[in-house]
Amino acid sequence: MDFQLTEEQQMMKEMAHKFADNRVKPGAAERDRTHEFPVDILKECAELGFMGVAIPEEWGGAGMDYLSYAIMMEEISRACASTGVILSVNNSLVCDPLMKFGTDAQKEKYLKPLAMGEKLGCFALTEPGAGSDAGATKTTAVKDGDYYIVNGTKIFITCATNADVAIVFAVTDKSAGHHGISAFIVEKDFEGYNLGTVEDKLGINASGTAELYFEDMKVPAENLLGEEGQGYKIALATLDGARIGIAAQGVGVAQAVLDESVKYAKERVQFGKPIAANQAIQWFLADMATELEAARLLTYKGADCKQQGGRCNKITSMAKVFAAETAMKAATKGVQIFGGYGYMKEYPMERLFRDAKILEIYEGTSEIQRIVISASLLKEY
Ligand SMILES: Cc1cc2nc3c(=O)[nH]c(=O)nc-3n(C[C@H](O)[C@H](O)[C@H](O)COP(=O)(O)OP(=O)(O)OC[C@H]3O[C@@H](n4cnc5c(N)ncnc54)[C@H](O)[C@@H]3O)c2cc1C
Repeated sequence: MDFQLTEEQQMMKEMAHKFADNRVKPGAAERDRTHEFPVDILKECAELGFMGVAIPEEWGGAGMDYLSYAIMMEEISRACASTGVILSVNNSLVCDPLMKFGTDAQKEKYLKPLAMGEKLGCFALTEPGAGSDAGATKTTAVKDGDYYIVNGTKIFITCATNADVAIVFAVTDKSAGHHGISAFIVEKDFEGYNLGTVEDKLGINASGTAELYFEDMKVPAENLLGEEGQGYKIALATLDGARIGIAAQGVGVAQAVLDESVKYAKERVQFGKPIAANQAIQWFLADMATELEAARLLTYKGADCKQQGGRCNKITSMAKVFAAETAMKAATKGVQIFGGYGYMKEYPMERLFRDAKILEIYEGTSEIQRIVISASLLKEY
């Protein structure tokens, strides 16, 4: 077992770290306040190859491995969790399934511009009645000659405000349960594609979360992703791998909490000495740092598993639930270390606390991750 990063992974770490500090972090608090989508930063991310890190170069990506992707996600999320999730959606939820299930023509038309960052993607699975239970999808797609006619509503879709392309899941055969769901590549300019309510949220405010609704949307039959009835499988396989991105986002948020907490604890003086001189504060910091390191190692192991191919759902679910809960626990302690200042928007901890919470919810709640882990465990014994 080798815990050293390769030269390429180290290069990614240094490049993403510098970019995050110089370009992403400075405007993060302002974007959180204004909810402005980071369009200019994403253009620079595209130049650095961050929009399709693990996609082969022939399809417009950077041709790096999944650990490099996790490292990029960790560094950017350390500076801005909103920018982090946008990158995670484009890389993991859009480029990955196109790479795995797309035809060469679909890759040429959609994957290349998405991986190069010329276009932005979103992943539209969730519906009002289908959250954790994605099999309860109600959106329908009815074949009509060379088209599918799609009707339905998707909610809570990250990047929906700015996305050019969406991977949309819809029922093509009502009688077939999970096997009756199919996946489609949809362009925002397709007739019947509509942007609905833009959500006002607790955190990750610059990530453009919105509703999409489809009214007799005409999707060319050639835009079916995979085969008819394969949509549920595509969704689950995509989410299995995507959890590495969200786990890495958790590591990044937890790292930001630790960095800010150590700095503040050394600066803040009460009772004539820095609060860091108190053992209570030292133990907060020690626990944060220990759990952060464990979350990072689990995330890197998940990334390595995905790189090797094969099923990696147990380890990626472990990484996602552990890193999410590590970030939330760290942020709770971080606010405590900052005292009243931790409750104020003027200080960074308040945003980190709000941003951390989403990690326990999207791409499968912590409860759903535990279902995946235990189901896998029970099969093994
Ligand atoms: C900011 C944000 C961004 C998002 N981005 C996207 C996106 O880009 N694309 C997309 O498709 N979706 C997206 N989502 C949706 C997200 O994935 C869902 O919100 C999530 O999967 C949970 O679904 P739900 O909200 O309907 O909660 P529910 O499924 O209703 O769950 C409610 C509670 O019940 C628990 N629960 C449910 N079933 C079980 C069970 N069997 N056992 C134990 N507990 C259970 C859950 O863990 C949770 O605590 C986003 C959500 C948010 C908030």
